[in-house]
Amino acid sequence: MKKTKFIWLNGKFVRWEKAMVHVLSHTLHYGSGAFEGIKCYNTNKGTAIFRLNAHITRLFDSFSIFNIKIKNTIKEIVKATIEIIKKNKLKEGYIRPIIFFGYGVMGLHNIHKCKVNIAIACWPWPAYLGGKAIKVKVSNYIRLHKDSVKADKKITGYYINSILASLDAKRSGYDEALLLDFKGNIAEGPGENFFIVKDNIIKTPRIKGQILPGITRDSIIKIATDLGYKVIEKEISLNEVLKADEAFFTGTAAEITPIESINNKKIGTGKLEITGVLRKNYLDIVHGKNKKYENWLTYVK
Ligand code: PMP
Repeated sequence: MKKTKFIWLNGKFVRWEKAMVHVLSHTLHYGSGAFEGIKCYNTNKGTAIFRLNAHITRLFDSFSIFNIKIKNTIKEIVKATIEIIKKNKLKEGYIRPIIFFGYGVMGLHNIHKCKVNIAIACWPWPAYLGGKAIKVKVSNYIRLHKDSVKADKKITGYYINSILASLDAKRSGYDEALLLDFKGNIAEGPGENFFIVKDNIIKTPRIKGQILPGITRDSIIKIATDLGYKVIEKEISLNEVLKADEAFFTGTAAEITPIESINNKKIGTGKLEITGVLRKNYLDIVHGKNKKYENWLTYVK
């Protein structure tokens, strides 16, 4: 991990090495935090943050499950994100805002007695899966049930589900996992949403409280629709996936990652035509090369 100099912590720029928390922080024990993953890209107008407002709005929406007040407004955290990138002179990289409960009182229901902290770190980070077509394993771990947790929020503790699925996929010789929902339909990847293409129609699982409403997912649906493709949000069975022409993951870190095979079964002919078109459009947009989507970019001036 490439360090930067500063981390924004509760309104102050703190040296990277000094941005520490107490070992009895509530979130460390119980996973009671909300977080985001955002990317910024180098463009010919300087660094641009992709869909910053949407990410910070989702951060606040995730944290709202605790019903605890945050001292800052969305606007202030948006501004702080821009400031930390400027302060670190980061051209291109990953941004990690997190709202977490600090040291206060241990115990599950005692969050209101713990300090609410907000941190924003950023650092250089290349594409997570590198853009090459990957081998995917259908996980034996199912995606968290929507009635067990509010599964459409980005909560730190939920990521044990993603970690177990990822570790298992990697240790079994695959690049990434694909999680099914409690009904056996496709849910999502450990940190990505999932799409297939069949007969030029693009399909993706419905959100329905069961998957994270990905901002890249939303962007791809808009881009594909604008390009004239039909996009359907529906329940997708594994059987339907195995008969697809193309499959890909979307995510802030994963961007648009083509899927070569699932459980060692090749998907389509491997040509990835529509995936390629969407990937190129997405990368052009995040790099500020498409005027039509300028409003998705926040320039760090
Ligand atoms: N699903 C999960 C579980 C994730 O962690 C992520 C990454 N935030 C995604 C989907 C993709 O979401 P986004 O496109 O907003 O990064």
